[in-house]
Amino acid sequence: MSKHIFVTGGVVSSLGKGLTSASIGMLLEQRGLSVRMQKLDPYINVDPGTMSPYQHGEVYVLDDGSETDLDLGHYERFTHSPLTRDSNYTTGQIYQSVIDKERRGEFLGKTVQVIPHITNEIKGVIHKLADDDVDVVITEIGGTVGDIESQPFLEAIRQFSLDVGKENCLYIHLTLVPYLKAAGELKTKPTQHSVGQLREIGIQPDILICRTERSLSRDDRQKIALFCNVPIEAVIEEKDKDFSIYEVPLSLVENGLDEFIVRKLGLQGAKTLDLDNWRNLLHRLRNPEHEISIAVVGKYAEHRDAYKSIYEALDHAGIANRAQVRIQRIQSEAVEREGPEYLLSGFDGFLVPGGFGERGIEGKIETIRYARERQIPFFGICLGMQCAVIEFARHVVGLDQAHSTEFNKDTPHPVICLLDEQRSITDKGGTMRLGAHPARLDPQSNVAAAYRTDLVHERHRHRYEFNNVYRQQFAAHGMIASGTSPDGALVEVVEVVDHPWFVAVQYHPEFKSKPTAAHPLFAEFISAAIRRHALRSERGKEIESS
Ligand code: GLN
Repeated sequence: MSKHIFVTGGVVSSLGKGLTSASIGMLLEQRGLSVRMQKLDPYINVDPGTMSPYQHGEVYVLDDGSETDLDLGHYERFTHSPLTRDSNYTTGQIYQSVIDKERRGEFLGKTVQVIPHITNEIKGVIHKLADDDVDVVITEIGGTVGDIESQPFLEAIRQFSLDVGKENCLYIHLTLVPYLKAAGELKTKPTQHSVGQLREIGIQPDILICRTERSLSRDDRQKIALFCNVPIEAVIEEKDKDFSIYEVPLSLVENGLDEFIVRKLGLQGAKTLDLDNWRNLLHRLRNPEHEISIAVVGKYAEHRDAYKSIYEALDHAGIANRAQVRIQRIQSEAVEREGPEYLLSGFDGFLVPGGFGERGIEGKIETIRYARERQIPFFGICLGMQCAVIEFARHVVGLDQAHSTEFNKDTPHPVICLLDEQRSITDKGGTMRLGAHPARLDPQSNVAAAYRTDLVHERHRHRYEFNNVYRQQFAAHGMIASGTSPDGALVEVVEVVDHPWFVAVQYHPEFKSKPTAAHPLFAEFISAAIRRHALRSERGKEIESS
């Protein structure tokens, strides 16, 4: 029978509950246990697919095509837990399912209520992940304790322990212990209040993880333990990490978290912790042999979470190449305003990420032209690939009014156009070409060299595609379709042949990169940027000595 861990958050949002949950999952796996991860989001949208990146950050796409919360990205990067549609539920989905059942008459004429119908539905989705060969299911509850929307979820996890037995459930509450400069001390009162709110609804947390910028003294821990009714070893410090998020699991171990969980849940199968892999990656991160700078030029550059997996994947590629990757986020509109010369000089590589809508498109196209003409490594992802195609059409093939029909329906040269399957669709949610699809690679190409194989499966999220009418014309001018769907119908990858590294993909490779296994395309992009950097310093020296 599976054991259950529930992770809630208190005091403020953005405490890093996803990262902490993922770290717990990773630690349990490294103790030889099998883990499943799940996030329950109290907002009413059916999924984050239609939400603005400003509201929600990146939409994380799974193999099965579900559009999910970005915390699932942490889960996938930290653990091996297989993620599916069942790994992320929102209030919207829970209600939709209950209402569908009501319409089918499944409640036999009863009044449908939050308790028990909504709470039963929530318990049902938690049970779905439990299985004979799963040791621990970790369920993270989105939002902050006290939010109206989260109440049914908290009530459901309270009831859950009555259904499966208290000894099989563990409640972890993540909270903030702020440091007040004026008083010169850490304050435990917000934590006491937050735990008070949980206890009011019948949940006594077993473990408190305290986010803090200063170390907790023994007195602080004693006070929290006393007021919140937990033993002192259940008060775990999680101090801010300036260097890397990958330090978080190690600091939780130092504070005895994994040991406490294993003991409290009686996880008999747990082995001793093996963190060699993780320590090794931190060692590589701390001791880089190269330093390069990459510009990520996109529409939502100012929002840290909008391209979360891309920034992470660049870091992983840095770890793989022993390079410190300095990432500069540049707004594509700023390139339009201030010009590429002013904003783009001095970088070793450019990445243009995915996106929707016309704002900033011309800035992306100018960035790509700059990278192509100056032979600087370029990596285009999804909309970034579509912009690379438009740029090449306009400036190399000679189709100077080329565009995507997403931005100009009447362009004389629609080099990017709507996928056939998309033409009749009007609903926005969950209707794109989504999830993992195979792509066949040209064995002679840069991409095949990077992947070391000619068949890959990558995740998609788009409506538009390369217009095949132009394929030969492009190839004749030096942009080849080096990856296509296995039947050859859809272009998945383009490359510029006369360039050190110019690769653009219709899919999202960033979703499959891990800190311990960088994605091959990101790794090769960074390696090309390192070569570019070396070349630049060589040239600099030559100029100095001449
Ligand atoms: N807007 C483009 C499309 O729908 C690209 C989407 C993306 O970058 N994810 O095809």
